[in-house]
Amino acid sequence: MPVLPEAFTDTLKGLPGFDIQSFLQVHASPERVTSLRLQPEKVTDPSVLFPSLTKTPVPWNRYGYYLSSRPSFTFDPYFHAGAYYVQEASSMFLEEALRQTADLSKPLKALDLCAAPGGKSTLLQSVLNRGGLLVANEVIKTRAAILADNITRWGADNVVVTNNDPRDFSRLDGYFDLVTVDAPCSGSGLFRRDPEAVEEWSYDNVMLCSQRQQRILADALPALKPGGVLIYSTCSYAREEDEQIVEWLCSEMGMEHIPLQTDPAWNIIPGEKQRGYRFYPDKVSGEGFFIACFRKQGAAKASPRAVSRKKNGISLLPQKDADRVGDWLKEGVDHVLLTHKDDVIVLPPQVAAELPLLQQHLYLRKAGVKAGQLTPKGLLPDHQLALSTIIADDLPVMELAAEQALRYLRKEDIRLDNAGNGWTLMRFGGMNLGWAKILPNRVNNYYPKEMRILKAGTPDY
Ligand code: SAM
Repeated sequence: MPVLPEAFTDTLKGLPGFDIQSFLQVHASPERVTSLRLQPEKVTDPSVLFPSLTKTPVPWNRYGYYLSSRPSFTFDPYFHAGAYYVQEASSMFLEEALRQTADLSKPLKALDLCAAPGGKSTLLQSVLNRGGLLVANEVIKTRAAILADNITRWGADNVVVTNNDPRDFSRLDGYFDLVTVDAPCSGSGLFRRDPEAVEEWSYDNVMLCSQRQQRILADALPALKPGGVLIYSTCSYAREEDEQIVEWLCSEMGMEHIPLQTDPAWNIIPGEKQRGYRFYPDKVSGEGFFIACFRKQGAAKASPRAVSRKKNGISLLPQKDADRVGDWLKEGVDHVLLTHKDDVIVLPPQVAAELPLLQQHLYLRKAGVKAGQLTPKGLLPDHQLALSTIIADDLPVMELAAEQALRYLRKEDIRLDNAGNGWTLMRFGGMNLGWAKILPNRVNNYYPKEMRILKAGTPDY
């Protein structure tokens, strides 16, 4: 259990809602809060997950649930199927912030600037109108790969994952309706979960984080439309990373703070000058968090225009090839099929229309759903397709028991009785885990090597 240094708690004295006694007590307590958020396009009833645990709704998120204890997520096949995202409950308040500030009936263009590992992006994807576009960006390459894997598990087709520095987004002047900046911070809000972080805490680092947060925001703001919404958040309690950033955004960066309604029973504390919202672990069932919403002032101007596809090495898949891929995709969903190098990429039309422009200015790590590669023999289906929400419902499937599912997810050899042949979806509890190719005398496991389970252990089922 972390022992909080006085040098740290002294900096919090006088902050709205800070109560040193209960704050120290909650950090000294062994109690831990575990929560997850469902992928509503894959699972709507939480009772199918962890049948032996109690699930209690998170009050500010439609898809969020607290679990009565922490299971081993690594050994849960549903986790690998993208049925849910393990997310700390306070940060799920982003849904409520979105509902109160953005017009979610409209197909918005949204940017999640600091997106890895993908908690806020997967939340945004569930809440935003399907007709919109979400760009999930991460500057650090290795973390962008983790983000892309988590977006693959989530299975949505309207997300583009980019790996860019925030300043690259200034090339998309006035392009986005919504920008979320869940900024890198000194991390004091997570001290309860990560005692080692306590030792790394210093006031100098808080100041460095604050300066970096200003740089990131200053770089990103040109990409937000006048009239558009900025949502800024941190997992730090520091005034320098929270209210002082709010002050700077309002006084120097042309942003107008948007107040939110919160239910008093939630125990969320308005920040200094009633701007932004503070979450303390001794007051809410969740970790430390700060969130503030803004509208960009100024008159609307023309946003960057789409460029031709051909210039960027992306082209429409010829109709005869598109027909060969069509059987793998859900009927009745409007898709555009593109080719890039040897890959077939499936995107909703509104994302396909924006792709050339995004590709011209940004480094794209992943766009929509990769269906696979077309060969003379047919489609070599990709893992992204298996986990997507746009895959056809009538493809060959094999339901696996928990033990077998884990063998599959470890990329070990699996034996299947009464299996058919050819490309088959491996499933657990009705949810796709990935592909296997069934041959007369063996089963080839196509689970991606880089996503396989490496640890030893057993499921909680
Ligand atoms: N939004 C994420 C989520 O909900 O899963 C968590 C984001 S984490 C608090 C901050 C992210 O910002 C990290 O992934 C980190 O790599 C990234 N980051 C670090 N330095 C950055 C910089 N200078 N500009 C932009 N992002 C940065």
